[in-house]
Amino acid sequence: MSVRTRADLEQLPPYVAGRTVPGSIKLASNEVSEGPLPSAVTAINDAATEVHRYPDMGVSALTEALAAHYDVAPERIAVGCGSVALCEQLVQATCTSEDEVVFPWRSFEAYPIITQVVGAKQVKVALTGDHALDLEAMLAAITPATRLIFVCTPNNPTGTLVRAAELDAFLDRVPEDVLVVLDEAYFEFVDSPDAPDGVEISRVRDNVVSMRTFSKAYGLAGLRAGYAIGPVKVAETLRKVTIPFSVNALAQAAAIASLQAQDELRRRCADVVAERGRVHRELVAMGYEVPETQANFVWLPLGGRTGEFNEHCLENRVVVRAFAGEGARVTIGQAHENDAFLAAAKSFGS
Ligand code: PMP
Repeated sequence: MSVRTRADLEQLPPYVAGRTVPGSIKLASNEVSEGPLPSAVTAINDAATEVHRYPDMGVSALTEALAAHYDVAPERIAVGCGSVALCEQLVQATCTSEDEVVFPWRSFEAYPIITQVVGAKQVKVALTGDHALDLEAMLAAITPATRLIFVCTPNNPTGTLVRAAELDAFLDRVPEDVLVVLDEAYFEFVDSPDAPDGVEISRVRDNVVSMRTFSKAYGLAGLRAGYAIGPVKVAETLRKVTIPFSVNALAQAAAIASLQAQDELRRRCADVVAERGRVHRELVAMGYEVPETQANFVWLPLGGRTGEFNEHCLENRVVVRAFAGEGARVTIGQAHENDAFLAAAKSFGS
């Protein structure tokens, strides 16, 4: 007789991370390729001498820094071991086994995995033909058992934005006892005047959480720090369900330093946004279908040709993120990295 693990987890697909191939350019995980902000590296070095001590479990200095940055009460903030951990904590905080989590699909691949691991029920809502969230269909998917809705904007992997007016109308129609999580992992790259700001929305709606991360624009993916801003009751529950000490000391120090480097952050994001425009224009000129993107990646809905495209990019030493049968997501890197990708895309032929 062997040990018994949960039968429902046997078929659970593992989370697939973007690959690192030595000698190739990695455009597979939506990281910034410029590296961490210099002040963050200094803070990490300074904090390194204290790692024989447990980190501050309450993440108090970083929480205070975020509270000052956004001008929100610290009680409304929860910091997590990456925003992916907060996704799980949010489902744990709201759902038991009879409850349902509504989310768009395709979207961030952790949503279905986490929902199943926590033991709640998944309700996947297909994207529109334009690769955007179908908010009308998401509303229609709400049942009395719905406890949580993930709204990913810009959506990973398609890059599409939910517009502020559209989101407002949607939120008006979501029952007040259902928590809406605005997953804004790519918020800092957004430049559309129509974009919603989840932190602002969370000031006026009691069932909205904005979730952001230090992994993307701030360049700290390897350290794992994300945060959620929302109702006090939700933030408190997130802190209860967290694994103790899950936000490590180096992550806390680096995140505080990064928050203080807003000018440098804005310059970097502006570079990414400019490169995003160039990559998008060039791909469209080559004949590719590329939805408008507000994130630091582009989506190529290549359908059945995705595998072939992925192989071709790998042969040209560019690693993209392929979703079999659906499309390829390609991170915007530095100009020379994007040039290498564009050359591969050109020789593939749209
Ligand atoms: N949300 C979205 C939409 C993402 O794309 C990601 C990372 N791929 C995350 C959350 C999680 O990011 P992290 O855990 O690094 O903060």
